[in-house]
Amino acid sequence: MHHKFSRRHFAGLAGVTSLGLCSALTPWASISAAQVASPNADDVLKDLLDGNARFVSGNTEGPRRAPRDFALLSETQRPEAIIIACADSRVPPEILFDQGVGDLFVVRVAGNIVSGAGAVVKGSIEYAVAELGVKLIMVLGHSNCGAVKAAVKHINDQDPLPGAIDEMVKLIQPAVSRAKQRPGDIVENAIRENVLLGVERLKGLEPIIKGPVAAGHLKVVGATYDLASGRVRLVD
Ligand SMILES: [Zn+2]
Repeated sequence: MHHKFSRRHFAGLAGVTSLGLCSALTPWASISAAQVASPNADDVLKDLLDGNARFVSGNTEGPRRAPRDFALLSETQRPEAIIIACADSRVPPEILFDQGVGDLFVVRVAGNIVSGAGAVVKGSIEYAVAELGVKLIMVLGHSNCGAVKAAVKHINDQDPLPGAIDEMVKLIQPAVSRAKQRPGDIVENAIRENVLLGVERLKGLEPIIKGPVAAGHLKVVGATYDLASGRVRLVD
């Protein structure tokens, strides 16, 4: 069974939606062709979760990774979702959501850090919203995350970590502080809080993301990926 909305039809829209890296940022007030052409956030979320269910069951379709698929995309891209995921080798979004080339706009940094991550991470996300018309942003944490575990340990031990790791891990500490106020496993809770902090940060991020989220044109969701089962669950 193939996806109900196909980016395959975007190939035909390439002339209409020729927004390139060099084009000026589209003011949100004027709805661009890209935004009109993009599927809505709920349909995209369903598509991702359906793909994850295929991955969990071992019935993946491995869509759109043949020469004709990527050749079609060579002039333009129409990703359906932005995924902010951990750099961890076990969390590759295209694979675990059973998506193809051109489907996902992926930003991966250790600990899927958003808050405090600076212009590179936030600007990447904003670009995909403003220029590519993406309507769903997912912050994806995962079980047994080394970066979050390091943040928990670092708070407890107060020992400096080498290189830039120290500064990076400090960005996760607000999540650890929140997790400490909750019952249960500190690492699991910190992974969840880290996702929620990322979602909160993005929902309030001006000027590109906050307005469309408030107006219901753009959705930001949090989720976690379980390494053992392969399942992605939404975090509320
Ligand atoms: Zn991780």
